[in-house]
Amino acid sequence: MSFSFDTTYKDLDSNLYSRVTPKSIADPNVLLLNDELCADLGLDTAKLNAKILAGQDCLEEPIAQAYAGHQYGSFTILGDGRAMILGEHVHDGNRYDIQLKGAGRTPYSGRGDGNATISSMLREYLYSYAMRNLNIKTSRSLAVVETDEAVERRRTEPGAVLVRVMNSHIRYGTFQYVAGQGSDELRRFTDYVIDRHYPRLNEADRTYLEFFDAVMQSSIEMVVDWLRVGFIHGVMNTDNMSIDGETFDYGPCAFINYYDEETVFSSIDKHGRYAFGNQRPILRWNLERFAEALQPLCTESALAYDELEVKLDEFEDRFDAQYDAMTRKKLGINSDGEEELVDEFLEWLRKSNADYTNTFLELETPGTFDDPVFATAEFERLRNKLAAVGLDEKLMQEANPRYVPRNYLVEEALDEYLETGDLSKFKGLLTVLENPYTSKDVDSQFQQPPPREFDAEYTTYCNT
Ligand code: AMP
Ligand code: MG
Repeated sequence: MSFSFDTTYKDLDSNLYSRVTPKSIADPNVLLLNDELCADLGLDTAKLNAKILAGQDCLEEPIAQAYAGHQYGSFTILGDGRAMILGEHVHDGNRYDIQLKGAGRTPYSGRGDGNATISSMLREYLYSYAMRNLNIKTSRSLAVVETDEAVERRRTEPGAVLVRVMNSHIRYGTFQYVAGQGSDELRRFTDYVIDRHYPRLNEADRTYLEFFDAVMQSSIEMVVDWLRVGFIHGVMNTDNMSIDGETFDYGPCAFINYYDEETVFSSIDKHGRYAFGNQRPILRWNLERFAEALQPLCTESALAYDELEVKLDEFEDRFDAQYDAMTRKKLGINSDGEEELVDEFLEWLRKSNADYTNTFLELETPGTFDDPVFATAEFERLRNKLAAVGLDEKLMQEANPRYVPRNYLVEEALDEYLETGDLSKFKGLLTVLENPYTSKDVDSQFQQPPPREFDAEYTTYCNT
């Protein structure tokens, strides 16, 4: 089967989207196709040719969605500037947006060219693949299709189209946009989103309040998962925050190596707004903007703004609870208490600046890494204390990945493809990241952090 579309978004008010046409691509070439995702979507790979995947052979008219968002704190009206939804694919009772990224300009493109480079789409494919296999809710990548044009960014590269799959691309920023269209429209839209993502809440007494609660919960779970594996999203603007707790928009993201909560890799994040350790307060800030977007619903008895504020006040406790449970799992502690020891360990992690991923593997199996930071008396003392109350192997193995996408290895693999057209290094990384918790039979270089100088200067970019 190819896609089976039933695009309900087109039943919404017409100012929420625009009908669009993908740019024409003379000779699209499928570089990567995600077989596992094809199977999950009930798609027959033989029926998914390059023309379909590059939007050259559409089953129906694609749309670009309108949305708004706070970008680095400033409110802006936006929309899909280089993304187009081919349709909503329905399989086994589940609905998925099938979206092309880099398929040309839309009415929301502004001065953007609507294009994407091959390296940034390969990068998104790899990061979303890794996140999925790390058991984190995420957009997934169905295919990367190389195009025949040259796209100019920091360097000139072949263009590409990424086929991205999500439960939906509805974001906090979509609500911010719709809020500006009036309360009737916002109510219709909110009801649509609840039906699509949280249908159980239709039975609730306080449906809109429970909806806010559910979005807050799914977002907290998502960000705690990021902190668990050392992921920095890099551009947590409200237009990049999914209503369903799916990680998406893999632009300037990266994984930390040496533990430092102030780590920032994004070239434009000069003040560290989206630093690793700032992801928690920024999530709260974003939820406040989301609550404000729901305010027009409060003109009715359906919701009172105070109720949303009460929910927001629960944020810190709920985040703490989720975060503490996660940290205890990473340390293999399955009883209550031991808060002081956990804090003491986290303090050591901050001070020692040890490699985040490898620290927990070393706790689990001492002697795994030949790194002086793990040969210190302090590490041994803490490990002994932890061993007395925790270090439960089973808990730890579920929480602590053996492999994450190491920034320097990702860059090497992308450079190799750009310079020689050889994808084998890149595919090697995908293989390692297929089972990031369990694979053991892997070259030890994949667990090696980069030289500290590399990490200190590493820079990631938006809109490539
Ligand atoms: P992002 O940083 O990816 O969330 O993008 C922010 C906004 O810029 C979104 O509206 C994007 O669709 C738009 N955008 C990013 N790159 C381009 C591009 N090359 N052409 C047109 N719009 C773009
Ligand atoms: Mg975005």
